[in-house]
Amino acid sequence: MFSKTKIMKSIKDCWDKLNSADAIVVGIGAGMSTSAGLEYSGERFMKYFSDFNEKYGIKDMYTGGFYPFKTSEEYWAWWSRQIWYNRYLPEAEKVYKDLLEILKGKNYFIITTNVEHQVQKAGFSKDRLYYMQGDYGLWQCSTPCHNKTYDNEETVKKMLDEQKDMKIPSYLIPHCPVCKEEMTMNLRIDDRFVQDEGWYKANKNYNDFLEKYKDKNIVFLELGVGNNTPGIIKYPFWQMTYKNSNATYILINLNDASAPMDIENQTIGILGDISEILEKILENK
Ligand SMILES: [Zn+2]
Repeated sequence: MFSKTKIMKSIKDCWDKLNSADAIVVGIGAGMSTSAGLEYSGERFMKYFSDFNEKYGIKDMYTGGFYPFKTSEEYWAWWSRQIWYNRYLPEAEKVYKDLLEILKGKNYFIITTNVEHQVQKAGFSKDRLYYMQGDYGLWQCSTPCHNKTYDNEETVKKMLDEQKDMKIPSYLIPHCPVCKEEMTMNLRIDDRFVQDEGWYKANKNYNDFLEKYKDKNIVFLELGVGNNTPGIIKYPFWQMTYKNSNATYILINLNDASAPMDIENQTIGILGDISEILEKILENK
């Protein structure tokens, strides 16, 4: 279906479009982190969570976060590992650095549903980033009684070091400094998600950027966005492309590089591994 020649031509087209665009909006989904090697299942999962697999039957890091652990000690033993091995331990992966290199000197803004902080680690400025689903590195009140988030690195490290038999010591269970209820992850999994000052600022910056370039020569570059939450990046990208005949929609995806017929002529779809494709785009620079 997708021949090599077609992919190479698409990569050249892709680079030309990025180069001539007034603005680029980059949408980054889970496929980007998978391509970076941050797999949530398989070998990598078993390396860090084989005991949880054996005792609770948990099969990957996506579902483990929703497991109804009976005690807070177990819950935080799970989460401290999930946070540490995905958020703090990994260095910035090459695929993110390549993206930074591609976008260097260009006018861009990034929206991501990923929560591992890889975009910031690669060196992108926070002012060009909307991390709308939260951040593994932040906690919030579970009630929530107030709209603030808290850095968790120090406590997470202690939880990691001091846990035994899949339980952290009780004294490490984090509590809200205001109402004393337990803290929880700052992740958009239900309506208790705290949107703090930084979140609102990023949200505004993103919307201002879209508004400013809505009828200009804009490129929507979608990287590894799957079908779990298409309403955040994919569908809006389709709609904004449809409404603006000067817009181009580029999507790079391992499994599905198709777009609706209405925007077919404005679409460049590249089926493949994001790391490899970004490397090839860089070769064109
Ligand atoms: Zn509270």
